Amino acid sequence: TLKGKCVVVTGSTSGIGLGIATEFAKAGCRIMLHGLEPESQVLSLIQEIASISNDKVAYSGANIGDPEQCKALIDLANKELGKVDILVNNAGVQFTSPVQDFPAEKWRWLLDVNLNAPFYLTQAVIPQMYERKWGRIIHIASTHGKVASKNKSAYCVSKHGLLGFSKVVALEAAGTGVTSNCICPGWVLTPLVQQQVERISEEKGISYEAAKLQLLLEKQPSGEFVKPEDLGAFAVFLGSDAASQITGAALSMDGGWTTV
Ligand code: NAD
Repeated sequence: TLKGKCVVVTGSTSGIGLGIATEFAKAGCRIMLHGLEPESQVLSLIQEIASISNDKVAYSGANIGDPEQCKALIDLANKELGKVDILVNNAGVQFTSPVQDFPAEKWRWLLDVNLNAPFYLTQAVIPQMYERKWGRIIHIASTHGKVASKNKSAYCVSKHGLLGFSKVVALEAAGTGVTSNCICPGWVLTPLVQQQVERISEEKGISYEAAKLQLLLEKQPSGEFVKPEDLGAFAVFLGSDAASQITGAALSMDGGWTTV
């Protein structure tokens, strides 16, 4: 059972991260929420998660594009939660452009948030996991950790990189009770994807609903979005003792996107 485990989920004041934090809260874990959403939104989420877990809920608004703030986030989690048993590297950003026009500062920003932050955060939590001989590091990668799509060079690099990083950590941690895995979601209807739907709708002069369907059917054979709560349930399973021999894996939940 995961009751009493202390869990940090980055980017959990929105989208997939919130779905994951909610499922860990249901499992009786002590949660640290994190993200850049406005304070009013955050305050009600803290209350909501606390009412589910029946435990205190910590919160950090650290900008994880900055290595110092990654370290500070883990220091705060240790102080507020007591320890970190499970780290879910979920926070991520998107920027789309053909390579020849891709702004260099956007490239660096995206890699800082999507790839470098998971490195700094993992580095900050893994010593205590080794000490206790138990830990779970779960990266929310993407189908774009396995396959490519045009205009997403930085994103695909960041997610492919996350798969590589997770495998190395899995090898270094093998036999210690600490595992490292990637979950690779297909399309999930969160603010990150809503932006992309809006752009298709504008560019093609079609309705939001039609744009949503077009985005889905281009890539995801099921024709349905993956749900944040299902990704949360998957993450909770990876946290469980039944998953102790799953490590170094990149597990898809993508409605069949990467079958071809
Ligand atoms: P989202 O935009 O709803 O949430 C992203 C979260 O990350 C927010 O809480 C935001 O505040 C936080 N964040 C962004 N930049 C940050 C920074 N510099 N410092 C601190 N926090 C920051 O997006 P989402 O769709 O829920 O995405 C979550 C993860 O899932 C991302 O890593 C994304 O790449 C991945 N993913 C999403 C989809 C999808 O279809 N939505 C598919 C595959 C993978």
